[in-house]
Amino acid sequence: MKKSFLALYCLFSSLTIPSIAEAAWQPQLAIGLWSGQETITLKLPCKSKIFFEGEEKSIMELAAGSQLSITHNGSHFLANGKNLKAEGKGLVIKAESAKVRDYYFTARQNDYRGSAKIIIKHGKLSLINLVDTEDYLKGVLPEEMPTDWPVEALKAQAVAARTYALQHRKRHEGDGFDLCTNTHCQQYLGKRSEKPAASKALETTAGEVLTYQGKLIDAFFHTDSGGMTENSEDVWGAKMPYLRAVKEKELYTKPWKTVLTAERAASLVGKKSHKDIGDLKKVELSSLKIGSSGKDRSHSGRVKQAVFVGSRGKVTISGNDLRSLFSLRSTLFDMHLSHKQLTVEGYGWGHGLGLSQWGAKKWAENGKKYNEILGHYYQHTELKKLY
Ligand SMILES: [Zn+2]
Repeated sequence: MKKSFLALYCLFSSLTIPSIAEAAWQPQLAIGLWSGQETITLKLPCKSKIFFEGEEKSIMELAAGSQLSITHNGSHFLANGKNLKAEGKGLVIKAESAKVRDYYFTARQNDYRGSAKIIIKHGKLSLINLVDTEDYLKGVLPEEMPTDWPVEALKAQAVAARTYALQHRKRHEGDGFDLCTNTHCQQYLGKRSEKPAASKALETTAGEVLTYQGKLIDAFFHTDSGGMTENSEDVWGAKMPYLRAVKEKELYTKPWKTVLTAERAASLVGKKSHKDIGDLKKVELSSLKIGSSGKDRSHSGRVKQAVFVGSRGKVTISGNDLRSLFSLRSTLFDMHLSHKQLTVEGYGWGHGLGLSQWGAKKWAENGKKYNEILGHYYQHTELKKLY
């Protein structure tokens, strides 16, 4: 039973229809699965070989269904107890032949396409998944967007996720890999996340990325803009010509509300500004109107700053600081103080830069194609097929 199951997966390419993975070059990504380990245990459903990184001659062969336990003694690896002289090189565990397709390995109950690499970093072991970009994205896309959403929204998200991954490729270079597996980069759990609709959206846009003046863009995206996205300089200072504030099909979306006691609000802003303002008496912030700026609001209407007036003094706090201090979903909000309660009512979810996922869904439901959606959220960019 087990053997026939394995045979289904560890296929030779001659038995399968060629896919884009074989048709053209695509970058391989190194995804850091975990670091700081004393032992790494892998299950190898397919027949595998171990190599020293960059070498062509294998140092160990493992039958399909094997378990591999790697430990180390500082400079050498021990593979199932056998001493492998490392000489500063990592170990790569991959398919017995380059012709094998659909090779994968299992680590902590998750299956990962591509090969495994183990390195010694700061005296501990790190496990890295070496995976083709499109196979990586198959695991990423369903984590970023529900796969029952309109196909044009999924395709737009596919291009944004691909561009983001390739543009941020060297983000964890110092750790020995390209990208991590959590939201710091993009969430990735391997094969178990894969969904046919997401894989289809990736296939139909395979290799497509967004560029500005010939370079990959920083394709930021977020859950919902609330009605209008934001100029990059109003979120983190740097002006990006393609990250501009643009309006959505619908305004005032995803409303939310947070209520704090006046005492708690005064304490939080006091701690942030290292100033005791006493009892909170007044909050100075103009009223929100999406798409209308002011001295305390950005072009989209997001809060740039608000003034908290207390019995012992006042402090000015930025919108971004308020978002983290009060755990708010966005900086697109109004604030009201009454009966010793501070009520914060806002819209949207996330930083507001680039593509809004709920916005993209709305545009797709209204007949927009993925390239039009991308052109809306990433102004003046070009859609290019990289591979
Ligand atoms: Zn990361």
